[in-house]
Amino acid sequence: MLNTKLPVQFDPYPFCRQRQEGEICYSNTLRLSELDSFRGLILPCEGEVQITCSFGEDDQKIPYLSGNIEAVVHLRCQRCMHPFEYEIKTSFLLSPVYSDQAAKELPSTYEPIVLDEGNISLPDLISEELILSLPLVPKHEENCLAEFAKKSQPSVTFMHREVDLENNRMNNPFKILESIKL
Ligand SMILES: [Zn+2]
Repeated sequence: MLNTKLPVQFDPYPFCRQRQEGEICYSNTLRLSELDSFRGLILPCEGEVQITCSFGEDDQKIPYLSGNIEAVVHLRCQRCMHPFEYEIKTSFLLSPVYSDQAAKELPSTYEPIVLDEGNISLPDLISEELILSLPLVPKHEENCLAEFAKKSQPSVTFMHREVDLENNRMNNPFKILESIKL
């Protein structure tokens, strides 16, 4: 299997129609800093995205591109507010179309990609796929509050207070009123 790089902007149709002995596998590496619409959603870091991709036409002559994306990004945990590493491994199966109407007519196995002036922009495509693979609420997998409490003594009291306050609110809604009066 050949390993080749994709151009940053490309017309997918010739790639899909290629009649080759065996599939060509394209592999590219992009820096996270190159992904304009994605990089604002993660914490700044020097990471890279690995992309492997191949093209073809299915039995109904529907052109497609399928591939895998791998990246490690830094997110802020919404429970403890500390940064953590998040590994993204995702795959895509896209079919290029020229209009929204054509997108609606695609079989549901394909995700439509509407072409802009006949081209696909690799950074835009990858950004979109990465955005879809981010968690809605980024959080450590483990109970990070307990972990951090073990590690640093001063924050223990702080965090217990936070938790107590929450409990009080839940158990006794009038507690809030009392504290406001005070
Ligand atoms: Zn956390």
